[in-house]
Amino acid sequence: MKNDFVKFDNVDKSYDGKILVVKGLQLDIAEGEFVTMLGPSGSGKTTCLMMLAGFETPTHGEIYLDGNPISNIPPHKRGIGMVFQNYALFPHMTVYENLAFPLRVRKIPKDEADKKIDKALSMVSLQGFEARMPMQLSGGQQQRVAVARSLVFDPQVVLMDEPLGALDKNLRESMQYEIKHIHESIGVTVVYVTHDQTEALTMSSRIAVFNDGKVQQLSSPDELYERPVNSFVAEFIGENNTFAGTVSDISGNSCKVKLTNGTEIFANPISIKAKGEKTTVSLRPERALINPKDKMDNNHKGKIEEIIYHGDHTRVRINLLGNDQFILKIPNSTSNLDIKLGNDINVGWNTKDSRALDPK
Ligand code: ADP
Ligand code: MG
Repeated sequence: MKNDFVKFDNVDKSYDGKILVVKGLQLDIAEGEFVTMLGPSGSGKTTCLMMLAGFETPTHGEIYLDGNPISNIPPHKRGIGMVFQNYALFPHMTVYENLAFPLRVRKIPKDEADKKIDKALSMVSLQGFEARMPMQLSGGQQQRVAVARSLVFDPQVVLMDEPLGALDKNLRESMQYEIKHIHESIGVTVVYVTHDQTEALTMSSRIAVFNDGKVQQLSSPDELYERPVNSFVAEFIGENNTFAGTVSDISGNSCKVKLTNGTEIFANPISIKAKGEKTTVSLRPERALINPKDKMDNNHKGKIEEIIYHGDHTRVRINLLGNDQFILKIPNSTSNLDIKLGNDINVGWNTKDSRALDPK
């Protein structure tokens, strides 16, 4: 397996010659990997896919595919399949003709093409639909045909740009698993784009979090959630409690942060280096405990402001150390915690779980 099967090497992109919408992109994607570009709208994800596909050129830097620079190779010779949210099927062609199109462009003989079409349709469970027109299919079926069309010519890499964005929630979730299973069974390299963090966490081997044209963090889903490297990632992925303050002491894996209300808390110094620096401390809701039995590094009094029942867990909003939006999650199998509106309670957490990041 090649670790840098797809390589963005210091890629910049500007559309107007002034503003860089992709800045110094450095990204290695291994053969057979499923890498997702995740980020808010306008962060440069589609631009990156377009450059990889060959519909846009980098302003600076180079993209390599299997070790070869691809800047001078036209899109249809790159061996890249594509699925886009708005890149609809050809409406005037049957399912069969839609799938035959990329094969005809590549001059594949008809009997071989028919075998490939059959195989691609079976991957998305749509055998027997060859003669249908796109408008005779549901949204989910159309998107499955689009997936089949992107795979039918055995591409080296498949690019998917928000392919499930137009589908309703249930269909989107089942398609996520379907695409993931297809990826696992054929082992093609996938570069996927979404702004939906749950989708990214569910499907990907690694996720590149984009903001403002830059990769903020490139990690496995669990690493990204458990160990965000900056405040943007901590906020963008999952739920996040924050405390603003100033570093009052630091040594090794521990620092003290003085909050605006004067209280000092212990935190794990991630993106701060010295006393006096401003920081935002990030703490996942499930890492804080209510009235903990055992001693924890941090233990502070708070007041319950709101209780919301969520089926498998209860969300409790607490006013804690000047933050009245502090959220805690309690599994509904837990009992006797004295959770009542207005109650004063103790909230505890350990140093390693409160991450001192760059100030927001
Ligand atoms: P994303 O896919 O993350 O939403 P895009 O790559 O589409 O982001 O866009 C990144 C930035 O580049 C945005 O500011 C967008 O307005 C701009 N942009 C995208 N495509 C073009 C284009 N063809 N011409 C000019 N500007 C563009
Ligand atoms: Mg986009």
